[in-house]
Amino acid sequence: MPKTFSRLETKGKKALFAVSPELCKGCGLCIEKCPSQVLDWSTRIGIYGTPIVEPKRMERCTGCMLCQYFCPDAAIDVIRREKPRQQKEEAGGSKPK
Ligand code: SF4
Ligand code: SF4
Repeated sequence: MPKTFSRLETKGKKALFAVSPELCKGCGLCIEKCPSQVLDWSTRIGIYGTPIVEPKRMERCTGCMLCQYFCPDAAIDVIRREKPRQQKEEAGGSKPK
């Protein structure tokens, strides 16, 4: 059976952001790569004895998922609340020509 990790979830308008304290090593890459400066250091300590990250400005989160893609330890899970525009158009059929 696959191991499951605890998650700290924060809901935003465009996405739900979740980080696992059992996976985050506090490298800071997600903070550096977030284009909207959503993420910052938390006061919580992760399993490696380093601070984990926290979305301190979740209202700015666009759900771009860059933080998830760049995290080397798969500690972040972003679940978008809306489908990207392209998927919406595909789901709604092609536009009249
Ligand atoms: S999904 Fe994008 S905007 Fe939201 S926290 Fe991650 S990198 Fe920042
Ligand atoms: S990139 Fe991943 S491991 Fe590094 S601080 Fe962010 S959540 Fe933690």
